[in-house]
Amino acid sequence: MTTVSPISDSQKPLRESAQYLKGVGPARMEKLRKLGIETVEDLLLHFPRSYEDFTDIRPIGGLTAGKLQTVQGEIVEINGKELADGRKVVSVVLSDGKDVLEGAWFNQVYVAARLRYGEHVAFIGKPKRYRGHWQMNNPRIQKLDDAQIQEGIVPVYPLTEDLRREQLRPIIQHGVDQYAHLVPETLPLELLGKRRFPELPRALRDLHFPGTLPAALNARRRFIYQEFLILQVALAIRRRELRDRLRAPILMVTPQIDARIRRLFPFTLTKDQNQAIADICRDLAGARPMQRLLQADVGAGKTAVAVYALLAAVANKHQAILMAPTEVLAQQHWRTLETYLAQSRVRRLLLTGALSSRQRRQALEEIREGRIDLVVGTQALIQNDVQFGRLGLVIIDEQHKFGVHQRARVRRLGIDPHYLVMTATPIPRTVALTVFGDLDTSIMRELPPGRRPVVTRWVPPDLRDQVYERIRGSLREGRQAYVVCPLVEESATLDLKTAVKSFEELQAGPFHEFRLGLLHGGLEDRVKDRVMEQFRRRELDLLVSTVVIEVGVDVPNAVLMIVEHAERFGLSQLHQLRGRISRGVVAGQCFLFADPASEDARERLQVLTRTTDGFELAEHDVRLRGVGEFFGTRQHGLGNFRFGDLLADHDLLKMARQDAIALVAADAGLRKPEHALLRQAVLDRYGKTLDLSEIG
Ligand code: ADP
Ligand code: MG
Repeated sequence: MTTVSPISDSQKPLRESAQYLKGVGPARMEKLRKLGIETVEDLLLHFPRSYEDFTDIRPIGGLTAGKLQTVQGEIVEINGKELADGRKVVSVVLSDGKDVLEGAWFNQVYVAARLRYGEHVAFIGKPKRYRGHWQMNNPRIQKLDDAQIQEGIVPVYPLTEDLRREQLRPIIQHGVDQYAHLVPETLPLELLGKRRFPELPRALRDLHFPGTLPAALNARRRFIYQEFLILQVALAIRRRELRDRLRAPILMVTPQIDARIRRLFPFTLTKDQNQAIADICRDLAGARPMQRLLQADVGAGKTAVAVYALLAAVANKHQAILMAPTEVLAQQHWRTLETYLAQSRVRRLLLTGALSSRQRRQALEEIREGRIDLVVGTQALIQNDVQFGRLGLVIIDEQHKFGVHQRARVRRLGIDPHYLVMTATPIPRTVALTVFGDLDTSIMRELPPGRRPVVTRWVPPDLRDQVYERIRGSLREGRQAYVVCPLVEESATLDLKTAVKSFEELQAGPFHEFRLGLLHGGLEDRVKDRVMEQFRRRELDLLVSTVVIEVGVDVPNAVLMIVEHAERFGLSQLHQLRGRISRGVVAGQCFLFADPASEDARERLQVLTRTTDGFELAEHDVRLRGVGEFFGTRQHGLGNFRFGDLLADHDLLKMARQDAIALVAADAGLRKPEHALLRQAVLDRYGKTLDLSEIG
């Protein structure tokens, strides 16, 4: 397990195996390991999930209705029955020698299996009078080993089956008594005071053996805050490093430039687009590199904002590049630019994999000599051999799996351009603060006028033919459709429909009268472009495709979509996909073919049919998959926390961010003695991940 605090000689015992603690032998050590506990320090920081309140213990005869209380006694009856409405009830009667109380659990039959006649237990719950006796609904149970209750506020740990709380508590008690005073205080006292968090070792005591519930919860919050603060300080340092020490060209957008750019668009920009542009212009006019993330739901019109920024840079005699994740998208951006710039003298270039090596060499030379103003291409564009004469702006489109590492690479080109990252995967604010914590964000929620939301249906297998019939009807009216499949290659283990197989079946069967195209990752770029181009020109009615069309593809006449094996896709991914068919004025129709086995998959599909709000979906996705999955940031561990939960502990995250920014503003290198241990902790945890050279 990772260590959370720096270490000096006097703290060495903290790194020793927990096995040498009193009450821990080899057998119990095995059980501790299952909880992720190796060292004494791990044990001290074994984090309670929650607390139980055993402060109000009463004899059954002295209970008050409706208030949280604890009673204890012996089990004298266990019954199970089924109610008229089908619910199953387990009823357990407790006697304290004088009076009895009935605990009743609804639809939790497993409760009965845990309990035995004659056993001594405590029930914690809110009692009520019921048919002349006391009853508690769904009370918490505590087993009393020696028929003696542990009074007070008792932590609930995440336990393995075979290590019960009654066994763990004395071990932790020993640990805290003997070692808590050795744990170094990472947090500056000033912050502890300001936030009213307990200092160590007090905080550890309150965490495991609190006097009151507020003390327990405050100790818990302290450790979560500490974890968040370490990340936020790391991000704040990095932000300073990137922004404050680097110099970028000052790019001014005069009213003339503004008017000239706006004239190019065949539509009026939305309020949100204008706001994003205003944010960007403010950044460009500064001498520090812009570090901005533009978030917008699919179809919100990010491209226009990007074009505006690109032309603003070019108007200031600087080069600008627009990078897309795939060749197909780069092509599409290029075409969009070509229509906007038909009358313009902007010298532009599409850098594709299709260039011959001679063409490429020539292109690179022109870029280096500054004879090209605007370059469009895939991220391969930023390979080391591309040098820019006077690069002013970098825009990266559709990039949510964009970690800190990739951004660092662009930095090392030896120039300091302004920087804009665009993503169509709306990121919950809280998450944005951590993973993209060193970026400023602009958000566009509004869709251009006249857009109709996509209607999404989840289709069980037996209704497939009906859907085909509907789609045939629309195709005959001149509409176009996508069929999206999850995999390219036939896989022996997963019996999934592949794009190739689907294509053949659909062409031979239900869609034999139509023109079908096939697009999958195994095709050469040249072929992909040709197929896309045919689809765009309506030479194809139906495009069978793998997720290569996932992002950004814009064909307004395609308003129908089938997703095969929709249960195999993530929420955000499905939302992206259906974004492809909300481009025109006709409401798109998305059919999710799915036979989901898991509860998660079912939930995903249900959420999708219910809402088209990308931000709401993103929240769900993070909840379902976890932050690391969501961002593909597993490797560098930015979204993974030991104590905190980004969504649940949102307020602490904000607090930590605020404090981190202030702290780094006052002591950028964390050179003050009172920050030495915090500095150490930041470097231990994030020095490598975030490349924190300045304080290293
Ligand atoms: P995304 O944000 O998903 O990248 P695009 O930039 O591809 O969205 O824009 C989606 C569609 O909306 C495009 O066809 C574009 O021409 C159109 N569009 C963008 N902005 C506006 C606007 N202000 N008014 C009308 N249509 C717009
Ligand atoms: Mg786009």
